Amino acid sequence: MKYAALGLLLFSVHATANPRLYVFDCGSVHLDSLEMFNIKPEESDVRDLFVPCYVIEHDDGMLFWDGGLPASMVGSEPPASATGPVTHYQRWIIDQLADMGISPADITYAAYSHLHFDHAGAANELAENTVIMQRAEWDKAFEEGHAFVEPALYEGLKSAELKLIEGDYDVFGDGSVRLIYTPGHTPGHQSLLVMLENTGPVVLSGDLYHTRANRQLRRVPTFNYDAEQTLQSMDRVDTLLAETGATLWIGHDKALADTLKKAPAYYD
Ligand SMILES: [Zn+2]
Repeated sequence: MKYAALGLLLFSVHATANPRLYVFDCGSVHLDSLEMFNIKPEESDVRDLFVPCYVIEHDDGMLFWDGGLPASMVGSEPPASATGPVTHYQRWIIDQLADMGISPADITYAAYSHLHFDHAGAANELAENTVIMQRAEWDKAFEEGHAFVEPALYEGLKSAELKLIEGDYDVFGDGSVRLIYTPGHTPGHQSLLVMLENTGPVVLSGDLYHTRANRQLRRVPTFNYDAEQTLQSMDRVDTLLAETGATLWIGHDKALADTLKKAPAYYD
C-alpha cells in the first residue's frame, strides 16, 4: 500500500515537468497539385505546405524534433512564374536557434519523424547530440531507391551517438514527451506526443498526414513505403488521440501553421 502511494507521489512530482513547445518556420513548399499525396485537384485547394521544426524544452533537457529544409534552400525566393515544386526558406534553423541563445551543444536529444529532405535539413548540424532514431528508419537510411531522401543531409549521423529504438519511446522518462511509432510513410516513421499543461496534449504528426484532406479522406500518398502500415498507423494515432484527448497538429498544414505562435513564443 505504501509503495503504491509512493509511486503515485513520484508520478505527480514528475508530471510537473511541464514541457515547453517551440514552433519554428523551417520553410515552405509550393506545389502545382497534391496528386503525389493521392488528393485530386477538386478535393483540396491546398498548394502550399509549411515545413516546421520544433524544440521541446523540459527540466531534464531539450529535444529538437524535425530538421526542416536543407541549408542550401535558405534564401530561395519563389520565381515569378514558377512551375513544379518551389521551396522557400527564410532563415536557417541554426541561426533561429542562435537568435534565442541556443547552440547545437545545448540540445540534449535530436529526433526526426523520418529522414526525407524536408525533415532532415539540419541533421548534420545536430550530430553532436544523442540522436534518437527508429532502427527501421536507420537500417534503410542509406539504401538506394527511396524517393525524397538525400543521404548527404544526414551522413554526419554515422558518427553520432545514435540511440536506436524499436517502437514507442518515452524521451525524458516521465511520460511527458513520447515518440510514437507510426511506420508506413517511411520504414521507421514516428510522431511525437507532448503533454502540455496549459495547451493540453498535442501530437505532432510528422508526415503521417501531409494535409487535412489526407486525414479526412484517409488517403495514403502514392510514394509511401508501405500503404497498409500507414493505415494501421493512422488508426493507432486515432486511438491515441481518443485516449489522451490530444490535438493533432499536421506538420505541413500551412493553414494551421499560420495560426500558431512561432518561437521565441511557446506553448506550455
Ligand atoms: Zn514532409
